[in-house]
Amino acid sequence: MPAEFGATPWGRAWVRTVESTVASAPNPALPKARSLARNHAVTLSVGTGSVEADVMVSGTGQPVRLQLPCWSDQERADAERLMAKALDEHRGLAVGDLPDSLEADLRRDGIGIAVPLDDLTAHCSCRVRRRPCVHVLATLYALSQRVDERPRLAVELRTSAWEPATPADPDWTPLAELGVADFYGT
Ligand SMILES: [Zn+2]
Repeated sequence: MPAEFGATPWGRAWVRTVESTVASAPNPALPKARSLARNHAVTLSVGTGSVEADVMVSGTGQPVRLQLPCWSDQERADAERLMAKALDEHRGLAVGDLPDSLEADLRRDGIGIAVPLDDLTAHCSCRVRRRPCVHVLATLYALSQRVDERPRLAVELRTSAWEPATPADPDWTPLAELGVADFYGT
């Protein structure tokens, strides 16, 4: 059975961001955050450099907004080169999928997939003193699941207007794509 969070290396990169919060002391908010993501309490809207979420806790929606840095021009150029090569070597992938080897290539070249917590800006207006709060953590877990379902999202988060190297088959309707279709206008 695949892991619930981080079933692919792409999602796993984001899970590492969340779980880096336990480096100093166990964070009791993590099990709660996982439970919220697991039970579909998090509604996500994802775009380049931003993630907006509504996290339902006890019937109340808590809005969360994350802002993340995009790749630099150099990182983007390197990533596009690696992607073109990887997609050429792995033809016939489902739309939205990316080869696992590409994640390893990017990591080897120091091109981050996920963003460490220190480098992203998280907005949540709740009164929980401990940061990141459970709403932000749940958003990140839900994001890791979304990325596992559709690895290409991990790239779209970090760079705008990236054109896939291989054109999509027009007869293929990817189910995982439907949830984000409105957002991307595809
Ligand atoms: Zn919060």
